[in-house]
This record gives sequence, structure tokens and C-alpha cells, in this order.
Amino acid sequence: MSKKKNIGQFRNIGIMAHIDAGKTTVTERILYYTGKSYKIGEVHDGEAVMDWMQDEQDRGITITSAVTTCEWDHSLIQIIDTPGHVDFTVEVERALRVLDGAIGVFCAVGGVEPQSETVWRQADRYAVPRMAFINKMDRTGADYLAAVASIKEKLGANPVMIQLPMGSEERFAGVIDLVAMKQIVWDDDDTQGAEYTKGDIDPNYMDQAQEYRETLLEAISEVNDGIMEKYLGEEEIHEKELKDAIRAATISRRIVPVLCGSALKNKGIQPLLDAIKHFLPSPLDIPAVKGLDPETGEELAFFPKKDDPLAALIFKVSMIEGRKLSFARIYSGRLETGSEVFNPALNKTEKLSRILQMHANKRERLKEASAGDIIGIVGLKNSGTGDTLCSRAHPVFLEKMEYEEPVISIAIEPKTHADQEKLEDVLGKFIIEDPTLKVRNDEETGQTILSGMGELHLEIIISRMLKEFNTNVNVGSPQVVYREILLSEERGSAVFEREISGKTLFADVRIRLEPLERGAGIAFESRVDGDRIPEQYLPSIEKGIRESLEGGYLKGYPLVDIKIVLEDGAFDERSSELAFSVCASMACKDALEKASLGLLEPIMAVEVFVPDTHMGDAIADLNTRGGKIESISPKAGTQVVKAVVPLAKMFGYSTALRSATQGRGTFSMQFSRFDRV
Ligand code: GDP
Ligand code: MG
Repeated sequence: MSKKKNIGQFRNIGIMAHIDAGKTTVTERILYYTGKSYKIGEVHDGEAVMDWMQDEQDRGITITSAVTTCEWDHSLIQIIDTPGHVDFTVEVERALRVLDGAIGVFCAVGGVEPQSETVWRQADRYAVPRMAFINKMDRTGADYLAAVASIKEKLGANPVMIQLPMGSEERFAGVIDLVAMKQIVWDDDDTQGAEYTKGDIDPNYMDQAQEYRETLLEAISEVNDGIMEKYLGEEEIHEKELKDAIRAATISRRIVPVLCGSALKNKGIQPLLDAIKHFLPSPLDIPAVKGLDPETGEELAFFPKKDDPLAALIFKVSMIEGRKLSFARIYSGRLETGSEVFNPALNKTEKLSRILQMHANKRERLKEASAGDIIGIVGLKNSGTGDTLCSRAHPVFLEKMEYEEPVISIAIEPKTHADQEKLEDVLGKFIIEDPTLKVRNDEETGQTILSGMGELHLEIIISRMLKEFNTNVNVGSPQVVYREILLSEERGSAVFEREISGKTLFADVRIRLEPLERGAGIAFESRVDGDRIPEQYLPSIEKGIRESLEGGYLKGYPLVDIKIVLEDGAFDERSSELAFSVCASMACKDALEKASLGLLEPIMAVEVFVPDTHMGDAIADLNTRGGKIESISPKAGTQVVKAVVPLAKMFGYSTALRSATQGRGTFSMQFSRFDRV
């Protein structure tokens, strides 16, 4: 890819799907037809090129968000891998943050599955334009129209079919393009779908094609006045005109164009690539990216221009072959190999030693990368996920990503002395990659406690420790991470006067703690005059109190939703930052000793899919777990039960559900909120 593309030809996209809908297979085929992958590696062979990590191959799921670049019909498609499992929400968020458009892959048999809903909603939040690909048209039970209907019902989207399948199940042969009014049929030979014939629509399909062409025109008329006039006036609508209208409506998120195919049987992928090019946005089509001036707090806008000041966001950091590789999206400006970039969060300049364009099977070194590019960077020592790279002369913070707090923890202990020695190092690497993983040492037991977003999240960490770093640990059973809250206002004070290495230190701090509303976090306010406590000590006071709140009081869980008010205090020539920090945490302990405190527990939103025959058992089981049933709705022979259940009661649920439903029930679970225990 030596010839640089025009930014209008870039398509930075993600492929979102429920596990097993076929995301990996679709991605694989895309890479095959765009010529970057030398052979088709079936997922079940564990060869798929996007699934880099050992662990993913074992589990058959995709958990990294590496980027892969390919070319199709003069456009440069950069695919950002997004995981489908909710336990990796943070990975999905990171990916959504840096892509411009996405394809939702759905199974033609299952339609919209519960976890696709979660990811779809996240994409709504990031205002990502989307298309839908109904995959697995070859499977028994494939039902294109039902799958499209589920997109409308479950996701509240406006799906607009731009293709119809020709046949279905084992007779699925190709697709009808309702925009061009042509049929596309794949040769069933050994070209692996590379050969296909585009031609006039088979007369057997003509009536249906015309009917759905009308539906398409009606749908586009509703969102495009030009098409509406022509449609009502029964004028001819040219292909180009219709394509432009579909593009505009897709980018403004008024419609979701729907295509279909069978990735496994090599059908439907080339038209999908055409649709990516025609209908999904380039970096020029999306709104300017906003950032904040770190000094003035002023809002800044960044446009995809090569000669503007640099603004790039690191959305993933991976340790690959022992080296730190940072993935970044450049929104504006450019980067050169060997140049320096400024990281305002660290107030540090870092040097790029290498810029890499990532392909499925190779990495290409670039001298320079610019607005629109999504690249790998070698050489950033200190920068982490979520950090902005910019120039010192034009510092900026791009919007920070927000993460959910961890809700589950496990205790681990190294098995041998050698494991002990590696453990800290290995965990240090994981923390760099994954801001949702928290590590702390339990002072009482001497154990290391890992907390994360779900059981699977932590299981994967443990298995990667063993496989990638040969570090063996004993693992305790998973525990819920509670939060502590303050139930009423309380004052606390402390005077610190102590001799430390021959010097006496002094500080005096008086505070008040006030409960805040749920989800407010921790706030700090000083109402002290500068002559009582000089301003220079305020950060140490805040830090001392925040640290004690983090450690909790009742049971050692973090205290949240509290306002700290510094009311009074005193200093003299013996005072220091250290003295104030220690004194503030003593004042905090004093307040907490007197205060009445409560516990919050994580409540999960659970969706259970059960056959009609087993619904009674499933509901009874949810009730014994303290679940509140919110709704029950039928879906093709099964019932969908939505409930909210305390996480503490959900351990072992998958086994229980399986045995209660003879293996036919499935469920998904997602953090909903914290509530009083
Ligand atoms: P992912 O979990 O979304 O990445 O899904 P995969 O691509 O790993 O596919 C899951 C399973 O479905 C694998 O066994 C695939 O071989 C199979 N699969 C993928 N696409 C199709 C398809 O079009 N038709 C059929 N019948 N199976 C498919
Ligand atoms: Mg996969």
C-alpha cells in the first residue's frame, strides 16, 4: 500500500456481532477477497487471521481490537475488531470511539440476539452509522425477513433492505441487488466465492424483486425529498441518485441498509464490500472531533486535515512479543517516524520509533501517517489507553473514555516462587492493556486481588497469565465487589504532630463528609482561608482523603458518592505535604468511625431465553435468586425473560439454567446499577 489514498476513500469500520453470528468468518472472507490473506482459515481450525491471541482461538471468540487494513475498489478499509461479549464492554467502547461506521452481523436463524442489543446501544451512544449483514442464509431455518423484523423490533432501528436472498437454506444461491435491480450468483466451484455472475434478475424472482424495490423506494422517500418527488411523480430514479440518497440517510443514521449472505459458503461478501464503500462514511463525513484545551478548558474542534495540529487518540495498547504496541487513530494532523509527540495527561514528550500499518498477515512500516489513519506505534514508553497525542504547541485532551467500575473480584496466589517473581511484572503488563482490570494487595491475607467486569473477563486474564507468560496461580472463588456509602453527614478532625527521622511534622485538618446522590462519585471542596491552610497543601489533603475512602471502612470496599468539605485547619513552619496528607486521612477515619455507613451491591440486568416448556422453572429459579421479573415476551418458540438480579445471586447461574432447561436455555447479563443491599 505504498500509494497514499485520499482521505475521502478511507472507511474506518467495525464489525459488531453476537458471539457465533459469524463476525470472524465475515472478516476472514473480507481479507481474502481484498487479497491480503493468502488462504481462507476456517474458524473451527483456529486459524482465523483476526483472532491473534491464543486464548481467543481456544474459545473461538474475539477479544482484541486490533486493526486490519485492506483495499477494495480504490477505497482503504481499516477494520477495527470489536468483541461481541459484554464482559469486554470496555474493548467495545474503545473500538466504537475510533471508528466511523459499523456493520452489524446477525444470524439469519437467530436474528437479533441479546448481546447484539447491548453493543448496538453502545454504538447508538457514539452515534455510529451502521449497515446490517444477515449472515448464515444457508442454514436450516434461515429467515431473512424475520431477521430484518427483529432489527426493527429489538433494536428500534430503521432497517431498509437493499438486497433480497435468492433462495434460502441449502438452496441459497445469491442475492438480488434492489438498488441496481440485478442478481448476483456465486459459482459453486472451487474458487471459494471469488467468481460470481452479475446479471438480469431471474424471472422467477422478478415479482418479489419489484415488490421489495417499491418498499425500498418508499423507505428512502421518507428520508429524502428528492427521491420522494420522483417516486410520487413516477419518474425514473437512477442508480447513482438512489445510492447517494442511501448513503446520506445511512450517515445521518436515519436508516440501516440491510444485506445478506453466507460467509461460510462464500456468498455475499463482495457486495458487502461495495456497500461499505458506497454507504458508510469516510472521516470527512463525520462531525469534527471535540477536545479540551488542558490549560483553559476551552473546547477545541479537530478536522481531518493533514496540515492542522496533531490530535490522535490511543485506543488500545498491547504487549506483542514483549514489545509495547500502541494503536492510535489520528483525527487531525500527522505523525512521522522518529518525531516527538506530546502527551498532555503525563505532561511528557515521547518519541515514536516506528509507525506501522497493520495488515492481517504483515505489518508495514510507514514513514508518516496522517488524519484518518489508524496505526500501530512502537516507542511510546509511558502513554496508555485513552491518552491523547498532540503537539506541545497545541495541547489537547480528546474526550476521555468512561469506564464502568469493576464488579467482581478473585484472589490469586502464585503457585511457586518463580511464579511469585513474575506475577507483579505480568500484572503490570495487563494493567497497561486494560484499564478495567484493577489489582490490589490484601494486607490481611497477603493475597493479590484482581477485580474486573465479569467472571469471563477474569478467567481470560488468568488463562493468559498461564499461556502467554507461563505464570501459574491458585485462584479463589469469585466475589462481588460492593461499594460503601455514607448515610448521613459527619464531621472529623485530626491533629498530626510527630517526629519523623529527627524532624517534627505538624498539620491540623477538620473536615465534613456529606452523602451525594447515587453515581456522583467523590467531590472535594475547600472552604478554608489561605491563612489557615495555604493553598499548596490542598492537593495533599484531597489525596489523603481520597485514598482512605478508596480503602473503605466497613468491609474494605471503596466508599463512593461522598462530598468532602475541608472546613478548617492549621499549619506552622513544621508543616509539609506529607504531614497534611497523613493528617487528612486521619481526619477522614475519625469521621468514618462516627458515621453510619451502608453497602451497595451491583445489580445485573439479566435476559434469559427459555423454551416455552421450561419457562415456569426458569422464573421460579430467578425468584429464589431475589430477581425481579420485568417482562416476558415470546420469540419464535422461546420466551425472553428480562429480570434484574443481584450479582451475588448469579454465581453458578449458567449451570443451574442448563440443568433446569435440559441445556436449551441461554442468558446474557450486564451490569445495571448499584443498589442498597
Ligand atoms: P463470531 O463468533 O461472530 O466471530 O463467529 P464465527 O465467525 O467464529 O462463526 C461462528 C460459527 O458459525 C463457526 O462455526 C462458523 O463456521 C459458522 N458460520 C459462520 N458463518 C456462517 C455461515 O454463513 N453459514 C453457516 N452455516 N455457518 C457459518
Ligand atoms: Mg470471532
